[in-house]
Amino acid sequence: MNAEAGWSRIMSQRFYFDKNVINRSTLLRQDNHIGRQLKNMGQKFIFVCDGKNLFYVGDKPKPVFLDKRALAELKIENYERIFLGVADNTAFYAIVTPVNISIGDTILPSNHYFEDLRTVATNIEPLEASYLAYAKALVFWNEKSRFCGICGSPTTSQKNGHERICSSDVCRQVHFPRTDPAVIMLVTHPTAKKCLLGRNRRFKGMRFSTLAGFVEPGETLEQAVIREVFEETGVLVSKATYRGSQPWPFPASIMLGFRAEADSEEIKCDDDELIEARWFTKEETLALSKLEDGLPPSNFSISRWLIDVWLNES
Ligand SMILES: [Zn+2]
Repeated sequence: MNAEAGWSRIMSQRFYFDKNVINRSTLLRQDNHIGRQLKNMGQKFIFVCDGKNLFYVGDKPKPVFLDKRALAELKIENYERIFLGVADNTAFYAIVTPVNISIGDTILPSNHYFEDLRTVATNIEPLEASYLAYAKALVFWNEKSRFCGICGSPTTSQKNGHERICSSDVCRQVHFPRTDPAVIMLVTHPTAKKCLLGRNRRFKGMRFSTLAGFVEPGETLEQAVIREVFEETGVLVSKATYRGSQPWPFPASIMLGFRAEADSEEIKCDDDELIEARWFTKEETLALSKLEDGLPPSNFSISRWLIDVWLNES
Protein backbone atom coordinates (compact mmCIF):
# COMPACT_ATOMS: atom_id res chain seq x y z
CA MET A 1 0.00 0.00 0.00
CA ASN A 2 1.44 3.40 -0.92
CA ALA A 3 1.54 6.30 1.53
CA GLU A 4 -1.41 8.07 -0.06
CA ALA A 5 -3.63 5.00 0.03
CA GLY A 6 -2.62 4.32 3.63
CA TRP A 7 -3.40 7.86 4.70
CA SER A 8 -6.68 7.74 2.82
CA ARG A 9 -7.65 4.50 4.62
CA ILE A 10 -6.82 5.88 8.06
CA MET A 11 -8.48 9.23 7.46
CA SER A 12 -11.59 8.15 5.59
CA GLN A 13 -15.05 7.28 6.89
CA ARG A 14 -14.87 9.50 9.93
CA PHE A 15 -17.45 11.83 8.49
CA TYR A 16 -19.08 12.85 5.22
CA PHE A 17 -17.37 14.57 2.27
CA ASP A 18 -13.90 13.45 3.37
CA LYS A 19 -13.40 10.47 1.06
CA ASN A 20 -10.58 11.10 -1.35
CA VAL A 21 -10.40 8.31 -3.87
CA ILE A 22 -10.74 10.39 -7.04
CA ASN A 23 -7.47 11.12 -8.82
CA ARG A 24 -7.64 14.87 -9.39
CA SER A 25 -5.21 14.53 -12.29
CA THR A 26 -3.64 17.92 -11.69
CA LEU A 27 -1.35 17.70 -14.72
CA LEU A 28 -4.01 16.33 -17.04
CA ARG A 29 -6.43 19.13 -16.28
CA GLN A 30 -3.97 21.70 -17.67
CA ASP A 31 -4.73 20.30 -21.14
CA ASN A 32 -7.27 22.29 -23.17
CA HIS A 33 -8.02 19.20 -25.22
CA ILE A 34 -8.42 16.86 -22.29
CA GLY A 35 -11.17 14.93 -24.07
CA ARG A 36 -8.62 13.41 -26.47
CA GLN A 37 -6.60 12.02 -23.57
CA LEU A 38 -9.65 10.54 -21.89
CA LYS A 39 -11.38 9.18 -24.98
CA ASN A 40 -11.07 5.53 -23.92
CA MET A 41 -12.69 6.13 -20.55
CA GLY A 42 -16.24 6.29 -19.39
CA GLN A 43 -17.65 9.70 -18.52
CA LYS A 44 -19.95 10.79 -15.72
CA PHE A 45 -21.41 14.25 -15.27
CA ILE A 46 -22.63 15.83 -12.03
CA PHE A 47 -25.29 18.46 -12.70
CA VAL A 48 -25.41 21.33 -10.18
CA CYS A 49 -28.07 24.04 -10.33
CA ASP A 50 -28.72 26.83 -7.79
CA GLY A 51 -26.21 25.11 -5.47
CA LYS A 52 -28.23 21.88 -5.44
CA ASN A 53 -27.34 18.42 -6.72
CA LEU A 54 -29.46 16.10 -8.85
CA PHE A 55 -31.09 12.97 -7.32
CA TYR A 56 -33.46 10.19 -8.32
CA VAL A 57 -36.83 10.27 -6.57
CA GLY A 58 -37.20 7.23 -4.32
CA ASP A 59 -37.40 5.92 -0.77
CA LYS A 60 -33.74 6.82 -0.43
CA PRO A 61 -32.24 9.72 -2.41
CA LYS A 62 -29.80 8.42 -5.02
CA PRO A 63 -27.40 10.80 -6.81
CA VAL A 64 -27.73 11.05 -10.59
CA PHE A 65 -24.48 10.66 -12.51
CA LEU A 66 -25.40 11.57 -16.08
CA ASP A 67 -23.82 9.99 -19.15
CA LYS A 68 -23.29 11.78 -22.47
CA ARG A 69 -26.62 10.65 -23.89
CA ALA A 70 -28.46 11.97 -20.85
CA LEU A 71 -26.75 15.36 -21.30
CA ALA A 72 -28.17 15.55 -24.83
CA GLU A 73 -31.63 14.50 -23.66
CA LEU A 74 -31.59 17.21 -21.01
CA LYS A 75 -30.26 19.69 -23.61
CA ILE A 76 -27.36 20.62 -21.35
CA GLU A 77 -24.53 19.20 -23.48
CA ASN A 78 -23.29 22.72 -24.26
CA TYR A 79 -23.12 23.89 -20.65
CA GLU A 80 -19.69 24.69 -19.19
CA ARG A 81 -17.91 21.66 -17.75
CA ILE A 82 -15.40 21.26 -14.95
CA PHE A 83 -13.10 18.26 -15.03
CA LEU A 84 -13.06 16.75 -11.52
CA GLY A 85 -10.73 13.80 -11.99
CA VAL A 86 -10.60 10.10 -12.73
CA ALA A 87 -11.83 7.12 -10.71
CA ASP A 88 -12.44 3.54 -11.84
CA ASN A 89 -11.45 4.32 -15.42
CA THR A 90 -14.16 6.99 -15.54
CA ALA A 91 -13.66 10.72 -15.99
CA PHE A 92 -15.91 12.79 -13.72
CA TYR A 93 -17.14 16.27 -14.66
CA ALA A 94 -19.35 18.86 -13.01
CA ILE A 95 -21.83 20.80 -15.13
CA VAL A 96 -22.15 24.55 -14.53
CA THR A 97 -25.61 25.95 -15.20
CA PRO A 98 -25.62 29.22 -17.22
CA VAL A 99 -26.22 32.35 -15.19
CA ASN A 100 -29.73 33.01 -16.56
CA ILE A 101 -31.04 29.51 -15.85
CA SER A 102 -32.35 28.31 -12.50
CA ILE A 103 -33.98 25.11 -11.28
CA GLY A 104 -37.42 26.30 -12.41
CA ASP A 105 -36.14 26.53 -16.00
CA THR A 106 -34.74 23.01 -16.19
CA ILE A 107 -36.83 20.25 -17.72
CA LEU A 108 -36.08 17.03 -15.87
CA PRO A 109 -37.46 13.49 -16.18
CA SER A 110 -40.22 12.96 -13.61
CA ASN A 111 -37.96 10.74 -11.45
CA HIS A 112 -35.24 13.41 -11.05
CA TYR A 113 -35.13 16.32 -8.61
CA PHE A 114 -32.63 18.83 -7.26
CA GLU A 115 -31.88 18.81 -3.53
CA ASP A 116 -29.53 20.46 -1.04
CA LEU A 117 -26.71 17.98 -0.41
CA ARG A 118 -26.61 18.80 3.29
CA THR A 119 -30.18 17.63 3.87
CA VAL A 120 -29.70 14.21 2.23
CA ALA A 121 -25.99 13.46 2.70
CA THR A 122 -26.38 10.88 5.47
CA ASN A 123 -28.75 8.86 3.27
CA ILE A 124 -26.32 8.44 0.40
CA GLU A 125 -23.06 6.58 -0.02
CA PRO A 126 -20.14 8.50 1.57
CA LEU A 127 -18.09 8.17 -1.63
CA GLU A 128 -20.89 9.58 -3.76
CA ALA A 129 -21.46 12.34 -1.22
CA SER A 130 -17.78 13.31 -1.56
CA TYR A 131 -18.04 13.53 -5.37
CA LEU A 132 -21.16 15.70 -5.09
CA ALA A 133 -19.51 17.95 -2.50
CA TYR A 134 -16.43 18.42 -4.69
CA ALA A 135 -18.57 19.21 -7.75
CA LYS A 136 -20.81 21.59 -5.82
CA ALA A 137 -17.83 23.49 -4.37
CA LEU A 138 -16.12 24.03 -7.73
CA VAL A 139 -19.35 24.97 -9.47
CA PHE A 140 -20.06 27.54 -6.75
CA TRP A 141 -16.62 29.09 -7.15
CA ASN A 142 -16.91 29.26 -10.97
CA GLU A 143 -20.37 30.81 -10.72
CA LYS A 144 -19.36 33.54 -8.31
CA SER A 145 -16.13 34.31 -10.15
CA ARG A 146 -17.64 35.28 -13.48
CA PHE A 147 -16.25 38.78 -13.11
CA CYS A 148 -12.70 39.83 -12.28
CA GLY A 149 -12.28 41.09 -8.72
CA ILE A 150 -9.49 43.42 -9.87
CA CYS A 151 -11.04 45.26 -12.85
CA GLY A 152 -14.61 44.00 -13.12
CA SER A 153 -14.29 42.52 -16.63
CA PRO A 154 -15.83 39.11 -17.40
CA THR A 155 -13.65 36.07 -16.74
CA THR A 156 -13.40 32.87 -18.75
CA SER A 157 -12.76 29.34 -17.52
CA GLN A 158 -9.39 27.71 -18.13
CA LYS A 159 -7.55 24.60 -16.91
CA ASN A 160 -10.85 22.75 -17.33
CA GLY A 161 -12.65 24.78 -14.69
CA HIS A 162 -9.83 25.04 -12.13
CA GLU A 163 -8.86 28.62 -12.98
CA ARG A 164 -10.59 31.67 -14.42
CA ILE A 165 -8.77 34.38 -16.33
CA CYS A 166 -9.81 38.00 -16.78
CA SER A 167 -10.79 38.81 -20.36
CA SER A 168 -9.33 42.35 -20.24
CA ASP A 169 -6.09 42.53 -22.25
CA VAL A 170 -4.56 44.97 -19.77
CA CYS A 171 -5.48 42.90 -16.72
CA ARG A 172 -5.38 39.14 -17.52
CA GLN A 173 -5.55 38.36 -13.81
CA VAL A 174 -5.81 34.64 -13.12
CA HIS A 175 -8.22 33.65 -10.36
CA PHE A 176 -7.94 30.38 -8.42
CA PRO A 177 -10.64 28.44 -6.54
CA ARG A 178 -10.81 29.47 -2.91
CA THR A 179 -11.82 27.68 0.23
CA ASP A 180 -12.72 29.62 3.37
CA PRO A 181 -11.13 28.19 6.52
CA ALA A 182 -13.32 27.85 9.59
CA VAL A 183 -12.25 26.49 12.97
CA ILE A 184 -14.51 24.14 14.90
CA MET A 185 -13.62 23.16 18.44
CA LEU A 186 -14.54 20.93 21.31
CA VAL A 187 -13.69 22.92 24.42
CA THR A 188 -13.09 20.98 27.64
CA HIS A 189 -13.72 22.35 31.14
CA PRO A 190 -10.71 23.24 33.36
CA THR A 191 -11.42 19.98 35.24
CA ALA A 192 -11.60 18.10 31.88
CA LYS A 193 -14.84 16.50 33.12
CA LYS A 194 -17.21 18.55 30.96
CA CYS A 195 -17.36 19.95 27.46
CA LEU A 196 -18.74 23.23 26.19
CA LEU A 197 -21.54 23.03 23.62
CA GLY A 198 -23.65 25.80 22.16
CA ARG A 199 -27.13 26.05 20.69
CA ASN A 200 -27.10 28.08 17.49
CA ARG A 201 -30.03 30.25 16.42
CA ARG A 202 -30.14 28.38 13.11
CA PHE A 203 -30.45 24.91 14.71
CA LYS A 204 -33.78 23.15 14.94
CA GLY A 205 -35.09 21.94 18.30
CA MET A 206 -32.64 21.54 21.17
CA ARG A 207 -29.55 20.71 19.13
CA PHE A 208 -26.26 21.50 20.83
CA SER A 209 -22.98 21.40 18.96
CA THR A 210 -19.34 22.40 19.11
CA LEU A 211 -18.44 26.07 18.66
CA ALA A 212 -17.18 27.25 15.26
CA GLY A 213 -16.27 30.35 13.33
CA PHE A 214 -14.35 31.70 10.36
CA VAL A 215 -10.64 32.38 10.51
CA GLU A 216 -9.97 36.08 10.00
CA PRO A 217 -7.18 37.56 7.86
CA GLY A 218 -3.95 37.95 9.81
CA GLU A 219 -4.60 35.38 12.55
CA THR A 220 -3.40 31.85 13.15
CA LEU A 221 -5.83 28.96 13.41
CA GLU A 222 -5.10 28.72 17.16
CA GLN A 223 -5.80 32.44 17.62
CA ALA A 224 -9.09 32.00 15.75
CA VAL A 225 -10.08 29.20 18.16
CA ILE A 226 -9.28 31.32 21.22
CA ARG A 227 -11.05 34.41 19.82
CA GLU A 228 -14.18 32.57 18.69
CA VAL A 229 -14.65 30.72 21.99
CA PHE A 230 -14.29 33.97 23.92
CA GLU A 231 -16.57 35.97 21.59
CA GLU A 232 -19.31 33.35 21.63
CA THR A 233 -19.22 32.26 25.27
CA GLY A 234 -16.85 34.47 27.28
CA VAL A 235 -14.80 31.38 28.16
CA LEU A 236 -11.02 31.78 28.13
CA VAL A 237 -8.99 29.20 26.25
CA SER A 238 -5.21 29.12 26.06
CA LYS A 239 -4.39 25.81 24.44
CA ALA A 240 -5.75 24.55 21.11
CA THR A 241 -4.63 21.38 19.34
CA TYR A 242 -5.44 20.49 15.73
CA ARG A 243 -7.33 17.19 15.30
CA GLY A 244 -8.56 16.90 11.70
CA SER A 245 -10.49 18.56 8.89
CA GLN A 246 -13.61 18.19 6.77
CA PRO A 247 -14.53 19.77 3.43
CA TRP A 248 -17.70 21.76 4.02
CA PRO A 249 -18.99 23.10 0.69
CA PHE A 250 -21.93 25.03 2.16
CA PRO A 251 -20.95 27.00 0.27
CA ALA A 252 -17.13 27.06 0.33
CA SER A 253 -15.52 26.15 3.65
CA ILE A 254 -13.12 23.70 5.13
CA MET A 255 -13.74 22.92 8.79
CA LEU A 256 -10.52 22.67 10.81
CA GLY A 257 -11.20 20.65 13.94
CA PHE A 258 -9.53 21.48 17.26
CA ARG A 259 -9.55 20.34 20.86
CA ALA A 260 -9.22 23.30 23.20
CA GLU A 261 -8.77 23.47 26.97
CA ALA A 262 -10.62 26.15 28.92
CA ASP A 263 -8.97 28.22 31.65
CA SER A 264 -12.21 29.71 32.93
CA GLU A 265 -15.69 28.41 33.62
CA GLU A 266 -18.15 31.30 33.55
CA ILE A 267 -20.29 31.47 30.42
CA LYS A 268 -21.54 34.76 29.06
CA CYS A 269 -23.44 34.45 25.79
CA ASP A 270 -23.97 37.81 24.19
CA ASP A 271 -23.05 36.73 20.71
CA ASP A 272 -25.64 36.95 17.93
CA GLU A 273 -25.10 33.36 16.87
CA LEU A 274 -25.74 31.38 20.05
CA ILE A 275 -28.97 31.25 22.02
CA GLU A 276 -27.12 29.55 24.86
CA ALA A 277 -23.99 27.60 25.75
CA ARG A 278 -23.57 25.11 28.57
CA TRP A 279 -21.05 22.77 30.15
CA PHE A 280 -22.12 19.13 29.70
CA THR A 281 -20.75 16.10 31.58
CA LYS A 282 -20.21 12.92 29.58
CA GLU A 283 -23.46 11.49 30.98
CA GLU A 284 -25.37 14.62 29.96
CA THR A 285 -23.77 14.59 26.50
CA LEU A 286 -24.75 10.93 26.03
CA ALA A 287 -28.31 11.77 27.09
CA LEU A 288 -28.29 14.58 24.53
CA SER A 289 -27.18 12.12 21.84
CA LYS A 290 -30.32 10.08 22.46
CA LEU A 291 -32.63 12.97 21.65
CA GLU A 292 -33.73 13.12 18.03
CA ASP A 293 -32.08 16.49 17.40
CA GLY A 294 -29.82 16.69 20.46
CA LEU A 295 -26.41 16.45 18.72
CA PRO A 296 -25.32 16.58 15.08
CA PRO A 297 -25.96 13.18 13.36
CA SER A 298 -23.36 10.43 13.89
CA ASN A 299 -20.61 10.07 11.27
CA PHE A 300 -21.84 13.17 9.47
CA SER A 301 -19.75 16.08 10.61
CA ILE A 302 -16.43 16.73 12.26
CA SER A 303 -18.44 18.39 15.03
CA ARG A 304 -19.97 15.07 16.12
CA TRP A 305 -16.65 13.30 15.64
CA LEU A 306 -14.90 15.73 18.02
CA ILE A 307 -17.66 15.11 20.58
CA ASP A 308 -17.56 11.32 20.15
CA VAL A 309 -13.77 11.17 20.48
CA TRP A 310 -14.03 13.04 23.79
CA LEU A 311 -16.86 10.77 24.98
CA ASN A 312 -14.78 7.67 24.24
CA GLU A 313 -11.77 8.84 26.19
CA SER A 314 -11.37 7.22 29.57
ZN1 LIG B 1 -9.36 41.97 -14.60
